[in-house]
Amino acid sequence: MAAQPLCEECKRQGKLTPANEVHHILPLARGGTHDRTNLMALCTPCHSAITARDGDRWGTR
Ligand SMILES: [Zn+2]
Repeated sequence: MAAQPLCEECKRQGKLTPANEVHHILPLARGGTHDRTNLMALCTPCHSAITARDGDRWGTR
């Protein structure tokens, strides 16, 4: 795996949080890929928030 990135959601809010989870922007269950363009580095709280916000119940986390 590449160097540990920062959480992209926190970065947007001016916070620097090490990312420890990878979020699939388009879930694999909906045809998403493991391509870099479909991946987002997130910390656990942001990942949970985004997953809830998207109504993502695919169990990919
Ligand atoms: Zn975060």
